[in-house]
Amino acid sequence: MSFFANVELVPGDPILGLTEAYNADSRPTKVNLGVGIYYDESGRIPLLRAVKQIEQQLANEAKPRGYLPIDGLPAYTQATRELVFGKDSPLLAAGRVTTAQTVGGSGALRVGADVLKKLLPHATIALSNPSWENHRAVFSAAGFEVVDYTYFDPATHGVNFDGLLADLGKLEAGTVVLLHACCHNPTGADLTVSQWKQVAQLLKDRQLFPFIDMAYQGFDKGIEQDGAAVRIIAEAGIDSFIVANSYSKSFSLYGERVGALSMVAPTAADAKAVQSQVKRVIRTIYSSPSTHGAALVAGVLTNPELRAMWEQELTEMRERIHALRQGLVEKLAAAGAPQFGFINEQAGMFSYSGLSREQVERLRDEFGIYAVGTGRICVAALNQNNLEYVAKAVATVAK
Ligand code: PMP
Repeated sequence: MSFFANVELVPGDPILGLTEAYNADSRPTKVNLGVGIYYDESGRIPLLRAVKQIEQQLANEAKPRGYLPIDGLPAYTQATRELVFGKDSPLLAAGRVTTAQTVGGSGALRVGADVLKKLLPHATIALSNPSWENHRAVFSAAGFEVVDYTYFDPATHGVNFDGLLADLGKLEAGTVVLLHACCHNPTGADLTVSQWKQVAQLLKDRQLFPFIDMAYQGFDKGIEQDGAAVRIIAEAGIDSFIVANSYSKSFSLYGERVGALSMVAPTAADAKAVQSQVKRVIRTIYSSPSTHGAALVAGVLTNPELRAMWEQELTEMRERIHALRQGLVEKLAAAGAPQFGFINEQAGMFSYSGLSREQVERLRDEFGIYAVGTGRICVAALNQNNLEYVAKAVATVAK
């Protein structure tokens, strides 16, 4: 008997497949806008100066590599908590937040999902329509029934806020609601501060459970402003919620898999119990996280000089994205496509460009420009060398 005969072949990830097609394309003018990575002006993944410095320092120290605690490096989890909730958050002072180091933001989502399945076994989860495509897969894999709530408005290329409120208002009490804190992936459409306040009140009134995913803190307006959603939910008096965060983008440490899962509970004693559940889940998946990436992030965040350097580099990345958005809009208008002004209103690395599947195919076939079939483009993969080419091509297919 052959146990592995006739195994079903699972289709590959469509976005990774796009990169394979891009790599195989021999046209020198090709551009890959399908990725979820910040590239610098030279088209490379940056190695931040602050990261390079701490890496050299750690290499010189050459410390032994024992196991970390199940929930990770304490210096890392503490610095993360302060970054995500704000150093002066009353939740931190009250000991109501516990944080575990996780294998990227993805690991935080999955560990969080597994813990929630245990604590709220009958809950469903509501995702924005659309959402990062892995959200559905992660929560389904953890045993959740997944439903959608209205989010994007193709007419305005922004948030359909009335639709969102109406859909959240219909959810059963106890439903988990996944919210993108900022730089919504894939649309780039974010809520304003006053909209967040309305959402927080609605979540509280309807007894919905917020699960905040923050993968891009610092990529739109700044560390504090981009974390506003977390503080607004806390200030609304919602006593239990989850935040998953990732440093993949903000530290340009994609392959180090640095993320964290923060659980907010009504009291410090509750938080301790919740963390014991988190630790049990981690213990049964990978036992404890790895040392290097967390040591880099903790080393930068806890050293005032390196932290200032990192904040400066994060500002440079953010400002470069803003300049690219503006440049794209201007060049599109100059090429006869003035209808793309909304790209300036969107936030973060991504834009739902409004291009149809057919237009995306034409971009690929005629120009060697690769975008996701939904029309999502990664603005952070543009640079001054390819901007004009992309703008002219998009204007051509959008005619
Ligand atoms: N959430 C969102 C919204 C994301 O876009 C991503 C990845 N790009 C993640 C979570 C996962 O982050 P990580 O790469 O750190 O696993």
